[in-house]
Amino acid sequence: MNILVTNDDGVNAPGITALATALRSLGRVAVVAPDREQSAIGHAITLHHPLRADQIADDVYAVSGTPTDCVNIAIHNLLDFKPDLVVSGINRGANMGDDVTYSGTVSAAMEATLMGIPAIAVSLATAGEGSNYDAAALFIRQLAQQVIKQGLPPDTFLNINVPDLPRGCLKQPIITRQGKKQYQGAIVDKIDPRGRQYYWIGSIDPTFEEIEGSDYVAVSRGHISITPLHLDLTNYASMDILRSWELSTQS
Ligand code: MN
Repeated sequence: MNILVTNDDGVNAPGITALATALRSLGRVAVVAPDREQSAIGHAITLHHPLRADQIADDVYAVSGTPTDCVNIAIHNLLDFKPDLVVSGINRGANMGDDVTYSGTVSAAMEATLMGIPAIAVSLATAGEGSNYDAAALFIRQLAQQVIKQGLPPDTFLNINVPDLPRGCLKQPIITRQGKKQYQGAIVDKIDPRGRQYYWIGSIDPTFEEIEGSDYVAVSRGHISITPLHLDLTNYASMDILRSWELSTQS
């Protein structure tokens, strides 16, 4: 089995090290990841300047770009194999609910899915630096074997959120839906040393809606959350409503 591992926390983050170490018992693992933190970069791709990829160990590359850049450069240029699976993570901090749209971790898995390669994004739901990456990595090793064996539905990848708990304390995995975060004012609004106003988007302890079956609820109860995501964002239910509008090029 050939696996590509990437992330958005940077090639030296503890999460990616734990993940790659656990997956190496399944086959060949190549790590191609940003050379620095790229969290909240979303699905950005670098078009306006060249990128460098430095090999820093056997099958480990540091790329001066985004997670999406990493997946592209890995598959098209760096690797001498096509991966059977792409795993992105383990992110420091959860990627649940609406936050998945900001996530570089999730976007790397999205990019692999666009290329037709099965993909998993995995995040450790921690408010701090995270303590239990190894426990999450062991679960992902098991899940990776299942994904290779069973395949994934078309256009679908898995977004995994693991509570930051020791292995023996993790509750069974639950298949979940994307939940809803409750937004609170978290933007710092101050005056800089030159007397000019600045804004700094922060994050405060997230609160979430108690939607039964959601990723947030599962993780808050100590379960591993598995959300199947797909890339087609079309809201099919709204298409008929919009078709009833009277729209014309003639008026
Ligand atoms: Mn991150």
